[in-house]
Amino acid sequence: MTMMAIQWYPGHMAKAKREVTEQLKKVDVVFELVDARIPYSSRNPMIDDVIKQKPRVVILNKKDMTNLKEMSKWEHYFVEQGFYPVAVDAKHGKNLKGVEAAAIEATKDKFAKEQAKGLKPRAIRAMIVGIPNVGKSTLINKLARKNIAQTGNKPGVTKQQQWIKVGKVLQLLDTPGILWPKFEDELVGKKLSLTGAIKDSIVHLDDVAIFGLNFLIQHDIETLRQHYHISVEEDAAILEWFDAIGRRRGLLQKGNEVDYEAVIELLINDLRNAKMGTYCFDLYSEMKRDIAHENND
Ligand code: GDP
Repeated sequence: MTMMAIQWYPGHMAKAKREVTEQLKKVDVVFELVDARIPYSSRNPMIDDVIKQKPRVVILNKKDMTNLKEMSKWEHYFVEQGFYPVAVDAKHGKNLKGVEAAAIEATKDKFAKEQAKGLKPRAIRAMIVGIPNVGKSTLINKLARKNIAQTGNKPGVTKQQQWIKVGKVLQLLDTPGILWPKFEDELVGKKLSLTGAIKDSIVHLDDVAIFGLNFLIQHDIETLRQHYHISVEEDAAILEWFDAIGRRRGLLQKGNEVDYEAVIELLINDLRNAKMGTYCFDLYSEMKRDIAHENND
């Protein structure tokens, strides 16, 4: 099963990489935006290759939808990588100040050197990079809101990339760099689908729902039972869970059969919209060995 093949051909990827690389020359720091529900799986697979040694703030967005304890393990991981993590909720404008603070931290050395050389103080320039649907536009709009004047277009002038003033010291490119998601790993694909990062038609939704259900059974079974008012045994077959949910919710077809498609849709929507709880589907303890492998390749 190959995912995303529809949207990202090798040519697209090369072009995206080239464009981001070009924009990177203009900035002092990169904001790598990820989804806080899948802080590792929502990264572009070649991100280190693209950003290279440029100072990096990793913005874990959608903080309101994740498990903060698990997320903090990833923040720690990003610190170990030499990055500056900051968790935000762009939709509700939470911790935007933290972005500015992290940008200052990440570029401290660079600006100290400039100052030592006698260069005048200047704004820190940044750009946002990330896969689709992690919240890049939402964040840019939130950061820009207070400085609307800065982004106003003049008639007759072609819309070009502009700098948005953020806080006192930061300037942000108003167009984000869009890179492709990981799509070779099936598990990653399921997580991307479960968080709405990739389109429904590309992955098998039954696999996504089963993954989500198993995650709940393992990590939050009581909430799962309470949410759907069901009492299925922990070691029951997945189909029993589907049946129980379907019957309880009256998701039935002709002949009183459970409408599995409807159950799958319900489960995915409830998980995507954090209707049951807020979860981080990337579990650091389970993934750290594979990550160490990847980095040694
Ligand atoms: P982009 O493709 O990276 O530019 O992503 P968008 O900015 O279009 O956001 C994708 C979806 O995520 C939209 O429905 C946003 O409302 C939602 N979103 C973005 N940031 C947050 C956040 O911090 N919390 C929540 N709950 N939703 C968010």
